[in-house]
Amino acid sequence: MAEKIFDAIIIGTGAGGGTAMKILCEAGLQVCAINSGPRTNPATDYRRHRQVYDLKYRGYGDPLRLKGKAHQEPYSVEESEYSEGSDLFEHDVAYSNSPGTDWYWKRCKGTGGKANFWGRSSARFGDIDFKAADLDGFGENWPVDYAEISPWFSKAERYMGVASTIQNRPSNPDGEYLPPLPWRCIDYIIQKGGEKIGVPYLPDRCAQLTVGHNGHLACHYCGNCSRGCDVGSFFSPTWFTIPEAEATKNLTLLTNALVRSVLVDEDGAAKGVAYVDRTTRQEVEVSARVVVLAASCVETAHIMLNSKSRHWPTGIANSSGQLGRNLCDHLYGNPGYGYLPQLLGQPATPDNIADSTVGWMPRWQNLKNPREDKFIRGYAVYVGGGCGEFPGHYGQIEGFGSKYKRDIKRYYPTPIGALIQAPSLPSPTNYVDIDPEKKDIFGIPQLRFHFQWGQNELLMWEHSKQMMIDLFKAMGGEMWGADAEPNRPGTSLHEVGVCRMGSDAKTSVTNKWAQAHDVPNLYICDASIFPTSTDKTTTMPIVAFAMRTCDHALENFKKGVHKGA
Ligand SMILES: Cc1cc2nc3c(=O)[nH]c(=O)nc-3n(C[C@H](O)[C@H](O)[C@H](O)COP(=O)(O)OP(=O)(O)OC[C@H]3O[C@@H](n4cnc5c(N)ncnc54)[C@H](O)[C@@H]3O)c2cc1C
Ligand code: SF4
Repeated sequence: MAEKIFDAIIIGTGAGGGTAMKILCEAGLQVCAINSGPRTNPATDYRRHRQVYDLKYRGYGDPLRLKGKAHQEPYSVEESEYSEGSDLFEHDVAYSNSPGTDWYWKRCKGTGGKANFWGRSSARFGDIDFKAADLDGFGENWPVDYAEISPWFSKAERYMGVASTIQNRPSNPDGEYLPPLPWRCIDYIIQKGGEKIGVPYLPDRCAQLTVGHNGHLACHYCGNCSRGCDVGSFFSPTWFTIPEAEATKNLTLLTNALVRSVLVDEDGAAKGVAYVDRTTRQEVEVSARVVVLAASCVETAHIMLNSKSRHWPTGIANSSGQLGRNLCDHLYGNPGYGYLPQLLGQPATPDNIADSTVGWMPRWQNLKNPREDKFIRGYAVYVGGGCGEFPGHYGQIEGFGSKYKRDIKRYYPTPIGALIQAPSLPSPTNYVDIDPEKKDIFGIPQLRFHFQWGQNELLMWEHSKQMMIDLFKAMGGEMWGADAEPNRPGTSLHEVGVCRMGSDAKTSVTNKWAQAHDVPNLYICDASIFPTSTDKTTTMPIVAFAMRTCDHALENFKKGVHKGA
C-alpha cells in the first residue's frame, strides 16, 4: 500500500499548533497533528470544582508520584492533585542545565498544552517593542512593524475573546475587546495609590469571556481557571481550536507521540518527522509536504537541533548558526507584598473573581526618552489581592497556633501582592544546545540550557521593589516584605527567541512569515520566532503570528510552492 503523505504535519497542539491545525484543516488540507502526551479531557482532567478537603493530599498530590521519573520537580499551581492520574505534565523527558544555570522547564504534554491552565493576560506588542533597537540602540529590530501585524492581533482577539478597555497607553496599543472584568474595592485602592506615584493601574487584557462569545459560554467567575475551565469560558485549544479542526474531518491526531526529529529528502527539504510512540517505544515515521513546528519555543529548537543530516550538520535550517541562540525570558518575582489596614473588618467575600490578573500596571518607564531610567526598555507589574479561595498570605505573616489562625482570618480581605514581568535582553551567553553526553529515556539527546539574568532586568527588579514601597505608602498600606531574589529563569513560561525571525538569512532562522530561510517547507508557530522579549505576555501574539504564518503557507500551496494533495 502506498505510504500516506499528509499535506502538513503539525508538531504540538497548544496555542500555536492548535491554531495552525484549525486554519489548515478548515482550508481543506489533510493534516497530521502529533502530540507528545495524551488527550486532555476536561471532564476528568480539570478540577471540576472539587475542594482541597475533598482530596486525599489536600490538593498537593501524592508525594511519591514522581518516584523514578527523569524530571523530579513538580510544577506549581497547574499541576496538582486535581489533575493527577492524567499524566498531563512532562516528567519523562529530562533536560540539562549548564553549570551556573537554574532553568525551570515546565511542560504540559496533554493536548492543548499550557493554555489549558494559562493566566490569560493578552496584550498587544507595539512598535515600541518591534522597533526597540531603533529607539535605544540595543540589538536588532523585528522584521515586522505594528501596521503589518495589528490586523492579525485583531483577528486573534476576535477569535479568542479578550476582555479589556481602551487605554491610550504609548506602550500598549489598544485592541478589540469584550467588556472588562469587574473591578473590586481593592482595585480602586491600588489605582488611587498608583495615581499618586505616577504609575498606571488599569484593566488587564484578559482572554476570559465576560460575555458569551463565538458560541462559548460567558465566565461564571468560579475562580478555577488555573486548574482548567470546566465550561470553556477562556481561550484554550481544548475548547476552541482542537474541536474546530476535528469537525473538518481533515485531521489525524496522534497522541503519546514524542517527535525526535524532522526528516529531510535528498535536497535537504522537510519530508516528514520521526517520533517515538510512548506506548510501544517504537520509532515511527510520518510524511508530509510541509512541516509546522509548534512544540513550544525551546522544544521546537530541541527538535530542530536534533534534526541533523548531511545537509544540516548542526540542525535543520541552521546555516545562520542562530538556532538555539537569543534565549530570552521574563524575570518574575514578587517585589512587594503586604496588606491594606483600611480593609480590616470587611467581610471575607470571595472576590478573587477569576483567579486572574484583573488589573495590571502596563509599562510606564522609558516612554518619552528610551534611556531615561538606569535600564533600557521597560517592565509591567501585575498587582493583585482580594479574598482568594485559599489564604495565600499564610506564608507572609508570622505566628503559631490559634492566634496565627485568627490572624489569617483577620487579614483575609486585606492582602496585596505583586508580580513583576521584566524582559531579559538577548545575550550571547543565553542559549540552548544539545547536551553532548546525556540522552533521555527514549534515547533522544537532551536539551541543555545556558542562562543567567542580565544586569538590565536585575535593575528593573530593584526599580520595581522601590515602586512597591512607594505604592504601599501611597495606598495607606503596610508592607510585610518582598522576595529576596527573583524567581528561577523559566518560571514565567514566556521564553522566546531560539529560532528568531529576521530579514537576513545570515543572522536569523526564519523570514518574517516564520518560514525557515533554509527550508521553505518548514514553518514555526510558537514563540521561538520572537526575536526579543517584551513587557507583554506571548500567547495572544503566538496565536496572531500563527494565523498569519498559516495564511502564508496556504498562499504558497495555492501558488504551487508546496504541492497540495
Ligand atoms: C499557569 C500558567 C499561566 C500562564 N499565564 C500566561 C498569561 O497570562 N499570558 C500568556 O500569554 N501566557 C501565559 N502562560 C503561557 C502560555 O500558556 C504559553 O505561552 C502558551 O500556552 C504556549 O503555547 P505553545 O503552543 O507555544 O506551547 P505549549 O502550550 O507548551 O504546547 C506545546 C505542545 O507541543 C507538544 N510537544 C512538545 N514537545 C513535543 C514533541 N517533542 N513531540 C510532539 N509534541 C510535542 C506538547 O504536548 C504540547 O501540546 C501561562 C502558562 C501557565 C502554565
Ligand atoms: S472563573 Fe470563569 S473562566 Fe475561570 S474557570 Fe471559572 S468559569 Fe472558567
